[in-house]
Amino acid sequence: MTKQISAIRGMNDIFAADADAFDFLISTAEETLKQYGYRSIRLPIVEKTQLFSRSIGEVTDIVEKEMYTFEDRNGDSLTLRPEGTAGCVRAVIQNGLTHNQIQKLYYTGPMFRYERPQKGRYRQFHQFGVEVFGLQGPDIDAELIVLSARLWERLGLENLELQLNSLGNQQARAEYREILVEYLTGHKEKLDEDSLRRLETNPLRVLDSKNPDMAEIVADAPKLIDHLDDESVEHFEKLKAHLDDLGIDYVVNPNLVRGLDYYNRTVFEWVTSELGAQGTVCAGGRYDGLVEQIGGKSTPAVGFAMGIERLAALLMDHDKVPPQAQPDIYMVLVGEGTERPGMVISEMIRDALPDLKIQMNMGGGSFKSQFKKADKSGASYAIVLGEQEVQEHKVALKPLRLDEEQQTVDWDQLCDKLAQLFA
Ligand code: ATP
Ligand code: MG
Repeated sequence: MTKQISAIRGMNDIFAADADAFDFLISTAEETLKQYGYRSIRLPIVEKTQLFSRSIGEVTDIVEKEMYTFEDRNGDSLTLRPEGTAGCVRAVIQNGLTHNQIQKLYYTGPMFRYERPQKGRYRQFHQFGVEVFGLQGPDIDAELIVLSARLWERLGLENLELQLNSLGNQQARAEYREILVEYLTGHKEKLDEDSLRRLETNPLRVLDSKNPDMAEIVADAPKLIDHLDDESVEHFEKLKAHLDDLGIDYVVNPNLVRGLDYYNRTVFEWVTSELGAQGTVCAGGRYDGLVEQIGGKSTPAVGFAMGIERLAALLMDHDKVPPQAQPDIYMVLVGEGTERPGMVISEMIRDALPDLKIQMNMGGGSFKSQFKKADKSGASYAIVLGEQEVQEHKVALKPLRLDEEQQTVDWDQLCDKLAQLFA
């Protein structure tokens, strides 16, 4: 027998209940974003490697060890996108979308990172990202947060905690970096291997350490938020005032620095305690310097990305996914000459009542087996077409869930009847 070929570790087929959860999440997110005036952007999955090393930063986990990088047949170094912001920034620059324009964009799709696969952490995973270009005030930061809060509400997700911090401007960060390096150097014997390396390359990332042994030294470290520039303090205060007005709870987490280099000022994460170590379901912030850094005209920007797998897991754990493909009506067709009119009737209903979901029995079978399928489908009604019904131009309409009588309905009155029943 030929050996089966399986998928690559950490890259999953998503089907059945998982796929329903993905669909529910993505369609609800799209509707919500559209309600706030955001537009879809579709971006390539492969970009030049340089785009990511220049934007995400050479000394981040992603660029150091997580990228899927390869040479194409031309010898150019390409990378499967590990996140969406860099490609989105490249696209808005390349297409001239940032010239005195405000852009409010969203996208969704797969991202790739070579990480150790575990619950909530995969090598191909999916994000829903939102980016705004051309606005520098805290009002847009607040809008991104309030629209994400609205999305959680629509999805039925409770208990997500909003963590907030400000990273200030570049100069404030540079000054703080010195202070932090001095502190960490004084406690070198307590640093783990990762942190020792980061102390040399990217000391702020030490604060991001997930190692519990590092918790104490991180907790006692001097805080960036105590060393911010005045304008960033004002920006942060205004953001918090908006959130207070909107009734959105938050926790200021001074150690929230985010994994990527490009952030400044506002950073935020929505966190759950229900998914173990992989608790961040949405992360974002402001990145005013990035557009210029990758060759565009200086343009303020802010955005966030949701981890779809983690949110889908929460939705399923809490039974929040409404049935995605459950029919309203199941067509039961038994006997000679029922298939052709059955198909015509199904299409007639779909023409007249586009919101109704109709599933037609395919592949034949006895009354009994078709009814079993009808029942299992979750449909509210079965429409039954037998030889006699065809002769009389009628169908039997049989309720499957409600305690109603079965009725016989003429073909030309069927759509009106269904419109009443499903009104
Ligand atoms: P983490 O600290 O968990 O590694 P990160 O800081 O690397 O996260 P971001 O780059 O900010 O993550 O990505 C935004 C979101 O995408 C994360 O909050 C998470 O929900 C999701 N995400 C990131 N990496 C993965 C992955 N390997 N598998 C599944 N989801 C992921
Ligand atoms: Mg990571």
